[in-house]
Amino acid sequence: MHFQECTCCSESFIRSSHPIVADIILDKVSLDYSETLMAAAGHQAEKSLQDTMKEHFGNYILMVEGSVPTKNEAYCTIGGKSALEILKETAEGAAAIVAWGNCASAGCVQAANPNPTGAKPVHKVIHGKPIINVQGCPPIAEVMAGVIVHYLTFESIPHLDKLGRPMEFYSRRVHDTCYRRPNYDAGLFVESFDDENAKKGYCLYKMGCRGPNTYNSCGVIKWNNGVSYPIQSGHPCIGCSEANFWDNGPFYKHLQSFPGFGVEKTADKIGVIVGIAAGAGMAAHAISTNILKRKEIASGRSKKEEHGQEA
Ligand code: SF4
Ligand code: SF4
Repeated sequence: MHFQECTCCSESFIRSSHPIVADIILDKVSLDYSETLMAAAGHQAEKSLQDTMKEHFGNYILMVEGSVPTKNEAYCTIGGKSALEILKETAEGAAAIVAWGNCASAGCVQAANPNPTGAKPVHKVIHGKPIINVQGCPPIAEVMAGVIVHYLTFESIPHLDKLGRPMEFYSRRVHDTCYRRPNYDAGLFVESFDDENAKKGYCLYKMGCRGPNTYNSCGVIKWNNGVSYPIQSGHPCIGCSEANFWDNGPFYKHLQSFPGFGVEKTADKIGVIVGIAAGAGMAAHAISTNILKRKEIASGRSKKEEHGQEA
């Protein structure tokens, strides 16, 4: 089902290469209704939807793309029915619901302040059904395909984190698998997009990178058949697989107030700490050298005194 969205999730899905999306759609599942991918239109499409819900009641998987407006049904009405009405009707006989992307999982840009349509994600309006939040804006194609493959293989929904995201794809931070991480650890940061450090591929943390607060597989699976991902292209992560990422702005600015896990907070201070440490090291070295020297002088004096010589 498509509600308030831009269809980027479907666009991403059709680019899956492992497995190839054609294998999934043509061989592995029966895709009985999709406003984007089906050949039927109008009354034929509506009949297919009704027939599917009736014939497979309790067994079909409902996949939703987009948020649901709750302030006024006029914001999203399809075939004379509001998005909320359609969602409730289709969810009733679903064995499980897959919420594709940030819109269906967390509301995304439509739910950003001031949220004029009262946009809500699926789990805020449907209760009592297993809901898998496949996060991202859009989600990675192979992650979308992987969730379907998991269900087909194990006939159960994957293990989910507390935000309803499949653990197999969302248990690690983008930061934890980022190839620029050694630069972060060494305190080597890009200061502006056109500086020498950017050319050297240093860490993008000071350019507003939210990799330390974002759970996704971008650094491992990547995009476009594993070719690259935003950070590899020199763009900081904007946290698209997290709730409220549009409101946690502005993008491209490192925000001191941005929630962190403690260790990230040291990145800003790392230069200062290194400086202080170096200064402290030099001071300690000077002090210890001084003490040694004094000891040497003192022992020299006592040796001379032992031999009855003047110091
Ligand atoms: S802050 Fe961003 S660019 Fe830097 S290591 Fe973490 S994820 Fe990579
Ligand atoms: S790098 Fe961050 S913003 Fe970019 S796609 Fe991955 S999770 Fe989303």
